[in-house]
Amino acid sequence: MNAPFTMTIDGRAVTSSQRLSVTDPATGQVFAEVPDCSSEQLDAAVASARRAAPGWAATPLVERRAVLGAIAGTLMTHKDALGALLVQEQGKPLARAVEEVMTAAYWCAEIAKLEPGTHVLADTAETLVEVRRVPIGVVGAIVPWNFPIALAFFKIAPALLAGNTVVLKPSPFTPLTTLRFAELLRDAIPPGVLNTVSGGDALGPWMSSHPGLDKISFTGSTATGRRVMESAAPTLKRLTLELGGNDAAIVMPDVDVDALAPVLFWGAFANSAQFCLAIKRLYVHEAVYDKLSAALVKLAAATRVGRGTDEGVELGPVQNRPQFERLKGLLDDCRRQGQRIIAGGDVPAGAGFFFPPTLVDNPPEDSRIVQEEPFGPILPLLKFTDVDDAIARANASPYGLGASVWCRDEALALRIAHRLQAGTVWVNEIHTITPMKPMAGHKQSGLGVEQGLEGLLEYTMPQTVSMTRRKAA
Ligand code: NAD
Repeated sequence: MNAPFTMTIDGRAVTSSQRLSVTDPATGQVFAEVPDCSSEQLDAAVASARRAAPGWAATPLVERRAVLGAIAGTLMTHKDALGALLVQEQGKPLARAVEEVMTAAYWCAEIAKLEPGTHVLADTAETLVEVRRVPIGVVGAIVPWNFPIALAFFKIAPALLAGNTVVLKPSPFTPLTTLRFAELLRDAIPPGVLNTVSGGDALGPWMSSHPGLDKISFTGSTATGRRVMESAAPTLKRLTLELGGNDAAIVMPDVDVDALAPVLFWGAFANSAQFCLAIKRLYVHEAVYDKLSAALVKLAAATRVGRGTDEGVELGPVQNRPQFERLKGLLDDCRRQGQRIIAGGDVPAGAGFFFPPTLVDNPPEDSRIVQEEPFGPILPLLKFTDVDDAIARANASPYGLGASVWCRDEALALRIAHRLQAGTVWVNEIHTITPMKPMAGHKQSGLGVEQGLEGLLEYTMPQTVSMTRRKAA
């Protein structure tokens, strides 16, 4: 896995004289470099994808499914090596990194079972009306750094199954594993069908404004999502935007606190809380607030934070320096406002971006730690008395990605769930994301849907064919 990293354009290795360096978040040191794609190289990738598009669209569904199966097989064959590389650039614990590669393989295998289908509206002696689902053309896929591999395949699998070709761009913070899997897949995918380019801050805007791309599927922050939408407007690209979240969890007084505490803890802190759908505001009924916060404090103290390759490490470093600095700024703000930090809060000195799981005790609703998406391991615990008030506070956010309700009374739990403004609401479970469950961001958490048949259809356009049947003269 130490060979130089290359982009994949038209099925071939492409490098660049301009280089981009990649930092290991556990050491803060640069340890690898990748090509920094020029605008001419992006043009070549888009041109290759356009050339490949008609042939791929005409390829029978059964053959496209077989290609997804081959991709899944290749990922599984190389899961350990890809996982090890992912740890180095992303920071997460090795077991979680290998799991992420396996998730990507599973997604390809499961999405391949879907069928875009043709909807027949009328089929009579006089008329035939059918709504077909045709591919959009060339999809630009733009991916963030928190789950670089899983999130890439959330896009690649449905885009390819639906008959589109793809130009894929990883985050400049985590390009290595993406370039590597694309190299490994060169034999499994026809040239031009999946092109992979790596680059700095200019590359994303070049893609979102590129006249040769028909759709952008973007996962990242809401601020960047707005910019993508703006630069995609002149060419009226189709868009799927999976953006930020500030997910609320509502804990009712009838829960079993001891059993629930670890579930909530990992629902908030998994992947060092760099998770769009992490619990980011934990609303706890006053009857169980003290007991639950004590249990969470214990769990935070017992959690092993360290290098992703070290035995027994449960949380790796924060992925990059700007994010690490931002989190320290948020923590400083909590302290300046006199908020009580009841766990964590001591950020170790040193070159790595290590940040302990940190809990803030009932900060005011208008504080930054409640209103902003931290996207890192600081969680505000918020006390409530009246569930209507908790629901109103949960909904008082520009975001609407996910939410969860924790309550033994199922009927009450569902009534609460139905009042929450979020694309996914979990009840007595969390993060049970599957390829078949549609995932949509409400409000400023996104546009469109990923996963499930609805997600697949976002990579198609409806084409209505309406025919009058005449008797032969
Ligand atoms: P980001 O918005 O900074 O970057 C995401 C990607 O967009 C990167 O590949 C980046 O290079 C590229 N990019 C940056 N500027 C661009 C521009 N002007 N035009 C086109 N592309 C551009 O996000 P991030 O910091 O990498 O990721 C964290 C954010 O992503 C969080 O807000 C998180 O909630 C969100 N996220 C959302 C989901 C979801 O499914 N809703 C999943 C994961 C992460």
